[in-house]
Amino acid sequence: MDVQRKLEILADAAKYDASCASSGTEKRDSSDGKGLGSTAPGMGICHSYAPDGRCISLLKVLLTNACNYDCLYCVNRASSNVPRARFTVDEVVKLTIDFYRRNYIEGLFLSSGIIRSADYTMEQVVSVARKLREQHRFRGYIHLKTIPEADDTLITEAGKYADRLSINIEVPEEDSLAKLAPEKDVRAIRRTMGRLRLKLDEARDNDKAATKAKPPRFAPAGQSTQMIIGADAATDKTILDTSANLYGSYRLKRVYYSAFSPIPDASRSLPLAAPPLIREHRLYQADWLMRFYGFDAGEIVDERAGMLSLDIDPKLAWALRHRDRFPLDVATASREELLRVPGFGTRAVDRIIATRRLTNIRVEDLARLHIPGKKALPFIVLGNHRPQRNLLDGEALAARFKPKAVQMGFGF
Ligand code: SF4
Repeated sequence: MDVQRKLEILADAAKYDASCASSGTEKRDSSDGKGLGSTAPGMGICHSYAPDGRCISLLKVLLTNACNYDCLYCVNRASSNVPRARFTVDEVVKLTIDFYRRNYIEGLFLSSGIIRSADYTMEQVVSVARKLREQHRFRGYIHLKTIPEADDTLITEAGKYADRLSINIEVPEEDSLAKLAPEKDVRAIRRTMGRLRLKLDEARDNDKAATKAKPPRFAPAGQSTQMIIGADAATDKTILDTSANLYGSYRLKRVYYSAFSPIPDASRSLPLAAPPLIREHRLYQADWLMRFYGFDAGEIVDERAGMLSLDIDPKLAWALRHRDRFPLDVATASREELLRVPGFGTRAVDRIIATRRLTNIRVEDLARLHIPGKKALPFIVLGNHRPQRNLLDGEALAARFKPKAVQMGFGF
């Protein structure tokens, strides 16, 4: 099989993995003439969006889509009837270098099905990164998928070459993992995430303590994970509780949410249809609230429903459930309170706090501060604005933010 055909198969097989944004790594470049590539923004093949909104491009492939495991939700599972292919280590290295030189990509995202053993597969994945860094002086971004059962020395070596490592938690609940991926061991997954955390902490502490000697490098962009949404019956509340636990326990940089895609010849244990993509989007918004807006997982989702609203964003939904906390006087509210106002982002809050020291903010100032007022005005008091009490209390407020009903088409 030629490399072009392998690339078709193995790039297509990798598309289900969402955990490949490249933010947060150290800055490197090759302007000194020693080495190849940089971690600066570029143009490329597989587009991902980093948390800061930057569009990044990675060569995103599997080393092989053959796999000993039979995870029911995975198109590459052992019992799946798909064409199989396998790259050699040198083929992936050459592709990465060639694509980089043509400015198609700014890095590599490499994962693999598990062949022979976890150690054998991990060694192959690490060999690609080692060759890129040591033989080709490649300074672009490298994200390696880590196999939880692999030996600790291989994982340490992976962290030496990769910017980011990730291990997929796969599904939010342990019971579901046992049913859908019986060969996977949730304890091994969590144990390896814990080991990664210790190595990341150690590297960070060494970095702080270092005087002249350079500390050993370990995945400067940290670790991330991915959860498949909609393959089991887990509610959004369960998903966010699991994410909060993962952020707290393993200092993950990101949890990625990937809406389950129905696959050919799927098991009857799986749903027939994909969840609405908007659910994935709402989970990302809720995740953002936990990481940057001071919300706890438990308060984002309405306890009774267990699910995020698909119609309106989670912060607005929270504010509508807690109208007694509004309207908030922008002149005196704390930063934490302002962060809970619908429509106020973190930068908007910073601008408000800087401006209110100098002047009493009025409605017309919002546009000047680049703050959209439409969502926020029913919830705030400004120098020349106070929302009517009956507006904040009324049902009409919730209806105002819901998308307009659209007549369904007939499909012809
Ligand atoms: S181990 Fe990974 S590649 Fe193999 S079947 Fe499971 S999810 Fe798919």
